[in-house]
Amino acid sequence: MEQIKARTLFQKATGFIQRGGFDWTCNPYVGCTFGCLYCYAAYLPQNDRPLEDWGKWFRIKKNAIELAEKETRKLAGQSIYMSSVTDPYQPIERKIMLTRGILEASLSVSKQAFCCQEPRWVIQTRGPMVVRDIDLLTRFSALRVNLSIPTDHEEIAKLYEPKAPSLESRWRAAHQLQNAGVAIGICVTPTLPLKDPIAFADRLLEFRPEVLVTQPFHERTSGFGANTSAKAVELLKSSGWSTTSYQNFVAYLKKYRIVYEGEAGFFPPD
Ligand code: SF4
Repeated sequence: MEQIKARTLFQKATGFIQRGGFDWTCNPYVGCTFGCLYCYAAYLPQNDRPLEDWGKWFRIKKNAIELAEKETRKLAGQSIYMSSVTDPYQPIERKIMLTRGILEASLSVSKQAFCCQEPRWVIQTRGPMVVRDIDLLTRFSALRVNLSIPTDHEEIAKLYEPKAPSLESRWRAAHQLQNAGVAIGICVTPTLPLKDPIAFADRLLEFRPEVLVTQPFHERTSGFGANTSAKAVELLKSSGWSTTSYQNFVAYLKKYRIVYEGEAGFFPPD
């Protein structure tokens, strides 16, 4: 486990995150142990390890909580996306509570300093460990947890997200958060092959997330959702899942509710 001292915690949002209306990104870790095959973060310049090692390493920003205390003061009324290049609920988070510490520090500074202008947060995760922090999440004035649930079948998820928590554990987390009154987004992003698209769509509709996002799984090297690894593209090609399959799935959902596609779905809460 490598620890680094970060120069800053909140970084100016860029790309689709900025276009979505976020001002800042916040990444407690560098690298990600979930190792998704389609992860664009694996291709970013700060990942100085070989691409094939993605998912096998991470670094801890050891001064992240201290930075959160200091830097939150400049974020009145602004929006933060946590996290853009890692998952804030890495397994190590259970022990070191870095994400929790950042949220606690930021909340405490906000309550003291900003009155009605607290920062607005989106927490993007595949980690059901987020439920540990329900007590904290419910104290923010504007916060949404975006849970990524990109398919309906555990075996399919394991092919593309080999070390991420099970889909059912994410669904359980989604229900616990919703029952506690935390706003939820469900991100079917990228939409992986589905075993039973209609049953999955019905489950999503029944759950009624505040925000529902889908995104075709595409082969791209730039722009939103880039990059898709060759292995992920090969898997997709052999699965029989096509653009038409995706479109039919989304068309069914859209008969019943608003569905945001791609980067249109990544926006902060009011
Ligand atoms: S959880 Fe997110 S950051 Fe981590 S590998 Fe998967 S897509 Fe990338």
